[in-house]
Amino acid sequence: MSVRRVLVGCAVLSLQDACVFYPCCKACFSRLDAEDRDALRYRCSRCGYWCLKDQVDYRYRLSLRVVRDTSIFGVTVFGNSLNPFFGIHASGLQRLVENLEGPLGPSARSTLLVKAVEDCFLGRHFIFGIKVSRTEREPWLEDPDGNESSRRERAQFVASQMILPTASGLTGCTVHSYYQRLLQKASEHVAESSDPSKTFRPLASPLLLISGPSPNSTFSDVTLFPFGLLSQSILR
Ligand SMILES: [Zn+2]
Repeated sequence: MSVRRVLVGCAVLSLQDACVFYPCCKACFSRLDAEDRDALRYRCSRCGYWCLKDQVDYRYRLSLRVVRDTSIFGVTVFGNSLNPFFGIHASGLQRLVENLEGPLGPSARSTLLVKAVEDCFLGRHFIFGIKVSRTEREPWLEDPDGNESSRRERAQFVASQMILPTASGLTGCTVHSYYQRLLQKASEHVAESSDPSKTFRPLASPLLLISGPSPNSTFSDVTLFPFGLLSQSILR
């Protein structure tokens, strides 16, 4: 089946999957599964490759819901083409999330990573290099009979490439630098609020950067424009 690659400019609506990396087989890029409950060994069910937990490589998998004109569809981008946006290899980012040092546990770190990814990608425009087969209907093209919207909303594509429109350039911060800033702010917040009488205050309470000081507040005071020109705003 012949395949062609098309470049499609879209705006990102949401994350389809909050997890942006997965344990990856070094041989075939499939997902590795933990062999037992202790997760000391990971194995690829497709090709049989296995390795110890601390040798596992992670790979980016960014699954987005995007819109172009009136068409909404899913695009998933894999691998190192995302490194420029994240600013770190997926294995390095995974270690940052799993890091047990400091006042923030892995679940708070994961929550902050989702926020960092959302702030960096949602509402922004990207150009995706998407592979489509000759016979596949492209949901971003004008639909002659106009009644296939439900089918089009379910359409999913794999993008081999994700590019910022040329005007924007990669001059702002990356997911990694933004995430580290969130971690630092959240850690400071935890340290400030660690009153001896509240030593075991659970971290489930909102972190400063997630909900702000009042329920009605907006994120405007911490809003960053990653990859853009306004990334100084959080550095005040
Ligand atoms: Zn494999």
